Amino acid sequence: QKFVYDFTEGNKDLKDLLGGKGANLAEMTNLGLPVPPGFTITTEACKVYLDSGSEPKQLRDEVSAHLEALEQKMDKKLGQADDPLLVSVRSGAKFSMPGMMDTVLNIGLSDVSVTGLAAQAGDDRFAWDSYRRLVQMFGKTVMGVDGDLFEEALEEAKRAKGADSDLGLGAEDLKQLVDDFKGIVLKETGREFPQEPREQMDLAVRAVFESWNTDRAKLYRRQERIPNDLGTAVNICSMVFGNLGPDSGTGVAFTRDPASGHQGVYGDYLQNAQGEDVVAGIRNTVPLADLEGIDKASYDQLLQIMETLETHYRDLCDIEFTIESGKLWMLQTRVGKRTAAAAFRIATQLVDQGLIDEAEALQRVNGAQLAQLMFPRFDDTALSGDARKAERIGWGIAASPGAAVGKAVFDSYTAVKWSRSGEKVILIRRETNPDDLNGMIAAEGILTSRGGKTSHAAVVARGMGKTCVCGAEELEVDTKRRRMTAKGPDGKGSIVIEEGDVVSIDGSSGKVYVGEVPVVPSPVVEYFEGRMHAGAEDADELVRAVHRIMAYADRVRRLRVRANADNAEDASRARRFGAQGIGLCRTEHMFLGERRELVEKLILADTEEERDDALSNLLPMQKRDFIELFEAMDGLPVTVRLLDPPLHEFLPDITELSVRVALAESRKDANENDLRLLQAVHKLHEQNPMLGLRGVRLGLVIPGLFTMQVRAIAEAAAQRKEAKGDPRAEIMIPLVGTVQELEIVRDDAEKVIADVQRETGVELKLALGTMIELPRAALTAGQIAEAAEFFSFGTNDLTQTVWGFSRDDVEASFFTAYLEKGIFGVSPFETIDRDGVGSLVRRAVEEGRATRPGLKLGVCGEHGGDPESVHFFHEVGLDYVSCSPFRIPVARLEAGRAAA
Ligand code: ADP
Ligand code: MG
Ligand code: MG
Repeated sequence: QKFVYDFTEGNKDLKDLLGGKGANLAEMTNLGLPVPPGFTITTEACKVYLDSGSEPKQLRDEVSAHLEALEQKMDKKLGQADDPLLVSVRSGAKFSMPGMMDTVLNIGLSDVSVTGLAAQAGDDRFAWDSYRRLVQMFGKTVMGVDGDLFEEALEEAKRAKGADSDLGLGAEDLKQLVDDFKGIVLKETGREFPQEPREQMDLAVRAVFESWNTDRAKLYRRQERIPNDLGTAVNICSMVFGNLGPDSGTGVAFTRDPASGHQGVYGDYLQNAQGEDVVAGIRNTVPLADLEGIDKASYDQLLQIMETLETHYRDLCDIEFTIESGKLWMLQTRVGKRTAAAAFRIATQLVDQGLIDEAEALQRVNGAQLAQLMFPRFDDTALSGDARKAERIGWGIAASPGAAVGKAVFDSYTAVKWSRSGEKVILIRRETNPDDLNGMIAAEGILTSRGGKTSHAAVVARGMGKTCVCGAEELEVDTKRRRMTAKGPDGKGSIVIEEGDVVSIDGSSGKVYVGEVPVVPSPVVEYFEGRMHAGAEDADELVRAVHRIMAYADRVRRLRVRANADNAEDASRARRFGAQGIGLCRTEHMFLGERRELVEKLILADTEEERDDALSNLLPMQKRDFIELFEAMDGLPVTVRLLDPPLHEFLPDITELSVRVALAESRKDANENDLRLLQAVHKLHEQNPMLGLRGVRLGLVIPGLFTMQVRAIAEAAAQRKEAKGDPRAEIMIPLVGTVQELEIVRDDAEKVIADVQRETGVELKLALGTMIELPRAALTAGQIAEAAEFFSFGTNDLTQTVWGFSRDDVEASFFTAYLEKGIFGVSPFETIDRDGVGSLVRRAVEEGRATRPGLKLGVCGEHGGDPESVHFFHEVGLDYVSCSPFRIPVARLEAGRAAA
């Protein structure tokens, strides 16, 4: 087995073995691009080290051989006294990962070779600055010294000198600083900073191996579901110096604009600087285009290389480069990150350039990106120029997308109070906890100054689909004084935002503004709504790209996409968005508003007459709803779910009612109806309503309820048929656990349908099916299929019952802890849990189809619009997914990607 690969030996497809950075360095080397020579120690070597606690035996010899070859090529030896070869030691796993060891530059410098380097370069300051950086980086990342100690010593040196940046320190100061740093290392670790170059290198390599298992790295892997046993590679790369004077420098570049996708010159350049200085922001960089004026030859060469890379990788690449005394060196490349809009544009641009085909283009975008493009957004024109309407005051983590504007409030109570009186509010907290839940519900958006993507605020906001920016650290939130302080423009002074001041937050970019930023609808939604045509002269380039990719997805997908919709308006929108039917029409929404009273009567009914009376009043209303719905979805299937929620949801809140009755009684004017209501509320009160009297159980114990609903559906269908329509109603029974329940409801329903056929003389074909949302139903799917013509997986309830989670309770209380501990990387309510819930679904699909080969299968939980989950439903062979109208394009796209 071979543990070390020269850059000339690898290629970009060896990411498992060489890591992303190493594989791409090799690829560039083999393309003939100017990469400083070097070699990569494989992930296999790392695995051996992690398993056994020591490097593989032959590693030392292999490294020696490669080092010698490198030394020969460079014509100097590592750390050589009069002219040292220096190298960087860079970690590089298959996936780039926070928590992995930082790169150590300038390895090979010592008390002796630093003078050699100075003499060779003719620049003392440069040499001591490089040595200073080495002791600092090595001390911190390899020897584990607290980095602040070095920073403080550096600050102290600057203070003593009256310098305002490290450029103000001369060779002598830096030399002194090296001494101080070495003192810190000795004091903190009890060991001297190693002077032997090879020892420096070996220790750094080992530190990279060990960094695979830092807590942060492990947590990240658990959350992102990256296997723990991949290991990291280590790259040893000969140093090139961007800090050798004005004809040197370092920069980053993109082969096209990662924001718009347009081709051009994008990047930053910093003269006379090393390594991370560009991104660290210690001095002002210049736009890459300025390099043309600074060093035309290198600039032309860089542009040429960017074109080579783009044609070669057939995608946008990002690049790190350094110019040493007028000579260009490539230090890194990879397929670059991009915005959602750029992803769509780039994918179609590459098709037009003939670099990729449509199937490939479909893989270059995803549903999460499309979803992002569908949120309304802030009007860019209001954010720039002298007439701008708002000032950016912070930049946090884009935790839950959307654009929200409202008055600042700093506690949940005020949020609720203000929103009740019609104000739009943004809830601002340092961090949120379960007590903030009501405030979060009341707010337009949530802003916190602490916490990351898995913080309470982020998780709960995503669950509610509410805009959220979290961890905006430069904002100081003072909840006691109800205010927030931000740095003023250009970092000078400060801005205080008091309770009631208007703020705007952008959950897609993480930006926070003071003032009201106007919101504009997304052009992509305008397109789906049919208000903008992709073929129109002035159609936006993005819309055209989306149109092309959607058309391709629709051509190749096998899954059909339906909508969850309960009224004609949603149904029509869903149709415009491409829905091929309704997968879930919830009838409980038809029982709200003024009809609540009738439902109350139904629940309170003491006698059969009272009950029948209430039901016969509800019937025509239900029928009207269905007629409208069948008309909107004419020719497409509409699955109507019979009443599902626990009845108490239709009755007044128990506490409010008790108070009302008690007050009335004390005034001696209690009203009869309230007393009866209170009795009923008490009777219906359940400890666990979600596991109580609901779904099919209601139909079985409340005579006439389900048959009334079935009659309404059947009569509506008959009427539509008489009007020459094409209604395709399907009746769905919720919360079935055993086939017996279904059989009883089914028999009753069939009788009603037969009655309606007789009465109207219209022949009706109404499919009867069930939801699979209890583990027992999934486990006995083979039996249930005998009585069901279709299954629709209710994965929300199925997830609750399989995990034993009450969604409303767990998301707000302990989910953040679970996410932080990496128990799951994403909430199982967001993305289907393939191993648990998913395996029940898979089994029910197989057993259901075994009983009834033509069984139609769909899903109507929220997972139906989740990208990851759509792929799963495609794999297990469902016929359709159903989701909220807004998620339909996402589901179409992902169904296409799953099939392509
Ligand atoms: P990261 O993964 O954090 O980007 P890198 O290994 O790419 O870490 O290196 C950090 C910085 O040091 C980058 O700016 C990189 O270009 C620079 N760098 C790395 N190796 C060398 C080298 N051999 N010569 C000069 N600069 C280097
Ligand atoms: Mg890098
Ligand atoms: Mg359910």
